[in-house]
Amino acid sequence: MRLFVIIVFLISLLLSGQAKAQFFKLPPNIGSPYCESVDGTVSIHAHYDMARVDGCFDLDDGTGTPDLIVTNLAEPDVTNNSPWYGFKVVPSSTDDFNITIRCFNPNTLNCNADRYHPKRSRDGRSWSEIANTSITNSNNDQFTIHFSNETQPFFISAQPITGDVYYNRILEKLGAQPFSSRFQIGTSSNGSPIEAILLSLGQQSKMPNKPTIILTGRQHPPEVTGAIALSEFAYTLIQQDLLAVGFLDNYDVLIIPNMNPDGVADGNWRNNSNNSPLNPAMDLNRDWNDVTGFTQPETAAVKSIIDDIVAENIPIVLFIDFHSTHADKFYIQTNNYHPSTHADFPENWKTAAETVHGSASPYYLDETRASFYNSKRYMRDRFDINAITYEVDDESDISDISSWARAYAIAMTQVLMTW
Ligand SMILES: [Zn+2]
Repeated sequence: MRLFVIIVFLISLLLSGQAKAQFFKLPPNIGSPYCESVDGTVSIHAHYDMARVDGCFDLDDGTGTPDLIVTNLAEPDVTNNSPWYGFKVVPSSTDDFNITIRCFNPNTLNCNADRYHPKRSRDGRSWSEIANTSITNSNNDQFTIHFSNETQPFFISAQPITGDVYYNRILEKLGAQPFSSRFQIGTSSNGSPIEAILLSLGQQSKMPNKPTIILTGRQHPPEVTGAIALSEFAYTLIQQDLLAVGFLDNYDVLIIPNMNPDGVADGNWRNNSNNSPLNPAMDLNRDWNDVTGFTQPETAAVKSIIDDIVAENIPIVLFIDFHSTHADKFYIQTNNYHPSTHADFPENWKTAAETVHGSASPYYLDETRASFYNSKRYMRDRFDINAITYEVDDESDISDISSWARAYAIAMTQVLMTW
């Protein structure tokens, strides 16, 4: 039944594409519409970082309200329900129009407005949620947003756009410190630099073998709230009051904010964008297998810098990998896998963060042992350290994400200064 529906839909796509609107994805060409309503009053553009539209057409024949259908295809092997979408809407009249976001994936994942509530922005920087009263027709495969009296172009996105511009700002700010260095650790599948920041006070002479903390982010492209947490966490570490207490005199911090620049730029649901037939795109956080893993350029780059640190006899003492999910929580190790030293770090960290923040933490500790080869499992097994997945709720607001990221960064320094 499902297959039949898809076939019928694909035929309708082809017919409508021939008869009405541009359907097939055009090469990047800023300024030309990706597709346009039959009556010419509204167009959809997707030629920017983190945009994702795989198909687009108008169901209306030009005599009624435009009913634009924007289709998205998940990467074939994606089993995580993270339906990314992003496009720019350009109205040329104040007439009403509807846009339906419709997803296709082989694993019957939900594609409603639940995981990522649709957001809009005029400038791509400040975002607001689309009112529920404007959303109808939401089911597992699609939802429709109604618009009226629009006068200016705007973006619609599953989450705020946080791509190249965002990361350049982070890297510039962190890299501008007298004690920081910005460098490339590798190159993505499609040739983008994978960049890192090392915070290392007195690195040149005083303590060359200071213990190192590693922070990584954005293995999964849609996980924007985790990206925001990582940036606030890292900014906190370079603030004067933390420098004053000497944390960076005792520890180095290696920060790799965007492990998956291609997947982020392409608006992927989950994977990187490797086109190699022998080494196809995959979920990077399933590639941390010491024996058969690190097959992707992105994970191989991270492993390479870790190997370099090890080769210099620098101890790696803590690993935090930033993600987003349905809740604020930290995945830590389960019973038999707690590290042999400082196993109480997660509890102490949380308690200290609550003191810093002055309220009960929304983040809870989730003890799991992954059945798959993710970063947390790899780093714990290789180094016998606390390796933690820092998961931020998809719909947490930015002020909460930021205030808790700051509290957890300060708390981390406080606990580590007691080691
Ligand atoms: Zn994730």
